[in-house]
Amino acid sequence: MDSILKSKTKTPQTNIQIEDDRTGMSPETLKRAFLDNLFYLQGINQTDATLYDYYVALAYTVRDRLLHRFLKTVETYKQEKVKLVSYFSAEFLMGRYLGNNLINLGMYEQTRQIIEDLGLDFDEILEQEPDPGLGNGGLGRLAACFLDSLASLEIPAIGYGIRYEFGIFHQMIRDGWQVEIPDNWLRFGNPWELPRPDETVEIMLGGHTEMGHNELGHPKAVWIPARTVLAIPYDTPVPGYQTNTVNPLRLWKAEASESFNFDAFNAGQYDQAVAEKMDAETISKVLYPNDNTPAGRELRLEQQYFFVSASLQDLIRIHLRTHDSLDDFHEKVAVQLNDTHPAVAVAELMRLLIDKHNYSWNHAWDITQKTLSYTNHTLMPEALERWSAGLFGRLLPRHLEIIYEINQRFLDNVRTWFPGDDRLTTSLSLIEEGDEKQIRMANLACVGSHAINGVAALHTDLLKKDTLKDFAKLWPEKFYNKTNGVTPRRWILLSNQELSTLITEKIGDGWLKNLDEMRKLEAFIEDAKFRQRWQEIKQNNKRSLAAYILKHRNIQIDPNSLFDVQVKRIHEYKRQHLAVLGIIAFYNRIKQNPGLDIVPRTFIFGGKAAPGYFLAKLVIKLINSVAEVVNNDPDVRGRLKVVFLPNFNVSLGQRIYPAADLSEQVSTAGKEASGTGNMKFAMNGALTIGTLDGANIEIREEAGAENFFLFGLTAEEVYRRKAEGYNPMDYYHGNGELRGVIDRISSGHFSHGNGGLFSPIVDPLMSHDPYMLMADFQSYVEAQDAVSEAYRDQDRWTRMSILNSARMGKFSSDRTIREYCNEIWGVKPVKINIEDYNPASLS
Ligand SMILES: *Cc1c(COP(=O)(O)O)cnc(C)c1O
Repeated sequence: MDSILKSKTKTPQTNIQIEDDRTGMSPETLKRAFLDNLFYLQGINQTDATLYDYYVALAYTVRDRLLHRFLKTVETYKQEKVKLVSYFSAEFLMGRYLGNNLINLGMYEQTRQIIEDLGLDFDEILEQEPDPGLGNGGLGRLAACFLDSLASLEIPAIGYGIRYEFGIFHQMIRDGWQVEIPDNWLRFGNPWELPRPDETVEIMLGGHTEMGHNELGHPKAVWIPARTVLAIPYDTPVPGYQTNTVNPLRLWKAEASESFNFDAFNAGQYDQAVAEKMDAETISKVLYPNDNTPAGRELRLEQQYFFVSASLQDLIRIHLRTHDSLDDFHEKVAVQLNDTHPAVAVAELMRLLIDKHNYSWNHAWDITQKTLSYTNHTLMPEALERWSAGLFGRLLPRHLEIIYEINQRFLDNVRTWFPGDDRLTTSLSLIEEGDEKQIRMANLACVGSHAINGVAALHTDLLKKDTLKDFAKLWPEKFYNKTNGVTPRRWILLSNQELSTLITEKIGDGWLKNLDEMRKLEAFIEDAKFRQRWQEIKQNNKRSLAAYILKHRNIQIDPNSLFDVQVKRIHEYKRQHLAVLGIIAFYNRIKQNPGLDIVPRTFIFGGKAAPGYFLAKLVIKLINSVAEVVNNDPDVRGRLKVVFLPNFNVSLGQRIYPAADLSEQVSTAGKEASGTGNMKFAMNGALTIGTLDGANIEIREEAGAENFFLFGLTAEEVYRRKAEGYNPMDYYHGNGELRGVIDRISSGHFSHGNGGLFSPIVDPLMSHDPYMLMADFQSYVEAQDAVSEAYRDQDRWTRMSILNSARMGKFSSDRTIREYCNEIWGVKPVKINIEDYNPASLS
């Protein structure tokens, strides 16, 4: 069967006629470029080359083929003075580049062929690439999917973020506990990035403000910083799928302004001279490993301001290269703030316009609001970012002044619109009064933006009704819903190649650019041979995951069992512990009745816990403790297996999502903003067991209620039950199976008799149970029983699986990006023509 990854006809033409040109696509040219890179660029003989050396040589070979498209893209944007989307995100969880870039350039199969002709293992070479983990989870991965869609839709765009030297930690498991290992991903260099030191930007920090004068003699504030650092841009080219568009991902590295303090050096204090250099570089040293919990640390605020200021200065410089003034800045730049991490952009753009470019307050405010838009990612009040005004003012004294002024002008308006409504002004204020004043970054982002969006229908609804209700009352027209999506190129084509080939065989390859075309698969549902192929492919994916688990965890799992999977960051609201209660319920049933006929299951968990989040780390320990007992109990043999896969990341996700039968999306209703893992699972033919939360609701709507295992309270019910006074002990006393599960944990059965080990998890369940596991337990177990029943009928299951995949068109990030383009950014596709562009002629 011909793999669709070959798709030679769709390869964007290279225009290069000279057959021996170094960026040609013919097998001979590719092979020669690959071996030339190994020898001339890396200085390594084929006889001595390691697999990693081969990976680097191949990466350079691919990068060379991106570069003329990249330069032509940037040149076209400049010449045509296009409007540019700039996506500001503290995180970009990109995943490995090599395989994805080969796919987007249309040269995946050709490259596999030449590598195999050289007697090398292509898949093993792809495995050499370190996973660039510059993000925590869903938020960072969303940014990465968006960049793929932007380039694939030919939208002029740039991603701005931080080039962390250490990404998300590497997770190991020792004695069942998470251990964090630093992720030194740049140790052996990074072939994908291009440093651009000539575009360095200076960032000011600390100090104080004074009154001075501008060139016209008018009084103006002057910021006298205590120190400055340099922001050095590193560009990674991001190609679209079968387009000539290659957009930049521009990540900033911090360096000292002077590599050396000469005064200190001359005074003989060499150590101090070097210490200042190290201090500056700390800013881009490490990603904060928190997901959905803000870190109130000064360094974190430094990171946020560092990349926001560098990026805005960069955009202004780019604009002024082709325009006379910044008057039309907002017509040429749309800045999207990915959560509040870059919200200081509101104050920074005001500062740059007023202090540096002499704009009046009102004019600067108009440009700022029209430029910025804000995506909210959470409803949980404890996850909303706040900075103490003291800390903020010590680092950014001028910005604190600007924020106070924004607030004063804003609240003056509110008071005239709603006289006497003190509750309203208090709630809308950018400042939270109290022992210590706090700056509310979400409020700052709302006031400074022309558009505010949630990331799933329910989430946007609850934002308007609850978290941001007063802003929604003030400016209903500013609110949008933009349900998240994921890129089908990485999450189906690259990760599930066999399934992709089958789909294309049946419906052609249009689905890769228009995922709605997957609906055409429904026409084949009565075709028994098609259903059999569908099932076989799932089985192959399960076998290959089983082989991986055997190799890396030395655990044998049965590919014929139901793969029941929960992979995502570990969080109480995501309720991994609810799934554990479900496993123990099954276990107890078998213990009570060892002859019980149940559907054999393998429970697979993966996910990192924030290093300071004790309860999340204890949940990992609980999973591993239950695994140890269940996997070794002779009564259970062949029926239940529990596996925790360490270090869940994008690469591991690419193996796991395609191998899942069942996707666990069990968050407390109203807590998960959207989820995107839920979409990746369903696209790859997993069925979902889930609550009416985030995008689960829309997934169920699309797939059909009969193809989704629903359980649990609704967001509305959760809210109401809490208001009425919720007593979880009613469930403990009223439900024998639940009591059996809880007592099993408390007895120390999973902790070598130490009944107290898991009491930090169990005790809250019995007292206030903030995430309502006790209330949802019965309904969850019933849904799991329905899953088992459905799985016994393999033909019925396969039909449901096909329908899930076929109906996920809505969750392509292409659809999400089109909506942002049309409704929020006001940008249109721009064709990149490379026919007249011959890099050889430049020499
Ligand atoms: C998709 C993805 C996530 C988000 O998963 P959710 O289930 O939506 O929380 C997190 N981490 C990685 C590595 C992912 O690929």
